[in-house]
Amino acid sequence: MLAYITGAAGFLGSHLVDQLMRDDWNVVGIDNLATGDGRNLDDARATARFTFVHADVSQPWREWTSSLATPLQRPDVVFHLASPASPVHYERLALETMAVNAVGTMHAVGFSQAAGSTLLYASTSESYGDPLEHPQRESYWGNVNPVGVRSCYDESKRYGEAYVTTAVRKLGIDARIVRIFNTYGPRMQAGDGRVIPNFCVSALRGEPLTVYGDGSQTRSFCYVDDLLDGIVRLATRPGLSGNVVNIGNPGEFTIRELAAIVAELAEVELRTIDVALPPDDPARRRPDITKARTLLEWEPKVALRDGLQKTLDFFRARADEPTGYDCV
Ligand code: NAD
Ligand code: UDP
Repeated sequence: MLAYITGAAGFLGSHLVDQLMRDDWNVVGIDNLATGDGRNLDDARATARFTFVHADVSQPWREWTSSLATPLQRPDVVFHLASPASPVHYERLALETMAVNAVGTMHAVGFSQAAGSTLLYASTSESYGDPLEHPQRESYWGNVNPVGVRSCYDESKRYGEAYVTTAVRKLGIDARIVRIFNTYGPRMQAGDGRVIPNFCVSALRGEPLTVYGDGSQTRSFCYVDDLLDGIVRLATRPGLSGNVVNIGNPGEFTIRELAAIVAELAEVELRTIDVALPPDDPARRRPDITKARTLLEWEPKVALRDGLQKTLDFFRARADEPTGYDCV
């Protein structure tokens, strides 16, 4: 089996590379390193079954695909994961984020159609915006501010979903959409800005944890291994074209509860500082995973404390290393 993975040097993409390689896939990883880290691909690059392509997938795919060996041009699955994912990054790279989820997704669809590949599009729980229904089922249309600071991300992901779904209807391609809820684990970057890396790094440095707003907002945190298990099932099971599926852990925690757990696991006294809540920050977030349970026989297995312990171990080991370097 052959996979193309856009966003391969990122947090989720690089774990997906490693998982598929363990399962004997050949993998072509494509990334422009906008938010990725070349170190994440060190293991993969040591094997002949992995090819790295440094390219911007918002640009036409013709140039870099034509440089690959012929058998590599027809992947079984294209996993389109490229996109900044952290609010800090996507607000900094707002136009690039819109491009990769709109134009990049159009290229992924065109390529998948021509190659006869299955397309797996990585969407997000942000498609639900600040949800008025709780927990969120796939049938909920969402509550999104189309002109807010987060709209570059959530509206472009929604456009990507609309484009992929329309391509299934109009072009007959095989494509599936995963709505990913907050996922965490080793290889998140210290400067990524998302809550789990921020809390882990601060706790390990003995600094106070930055709680945005009053910390009563909730999120549901899924460990990376669980998420990838769900994504691979969604991408590879026959007969699922056109489906949109939530993958996430339904355990729901306030941000203050999360801060307390991280401090406890890091064995430091809990100290927090209050920071203003960013605009349009969703108040609640929890997936309804009935569809994933039914269609994919999937549910998460890793408890938050166990996943956080592994994540803390990762940040501990990286504490003295420089941040990110280019891998090509
Ligand atoms: P990440 O920032 O670690 O990885 C994204 C990767 O995409 C990076 O390596 C980056 O360099 C690459 N990239 C960005 N724009 C590109 C472009 N134009 N061309 C080529 N490569 C490009 O983020 P992540 O957490 O691994 O997220 C991966 C995907 O999953 C994203 O699509 C994101 O929206 C989605 N997602 C993630 C989460 C989560 O909690 N991690 C939640 C919801 C959705
Ligand atoms: N958050 C926080 N402190 C931080 C970073 C984030 O309190 O240092 C909050 C943020 O306001 C949000 C939640 O944690 O309510 C999750 O934020 P993250 O950026 O991880 O993900 P998203 O908002 O995309 O779900």
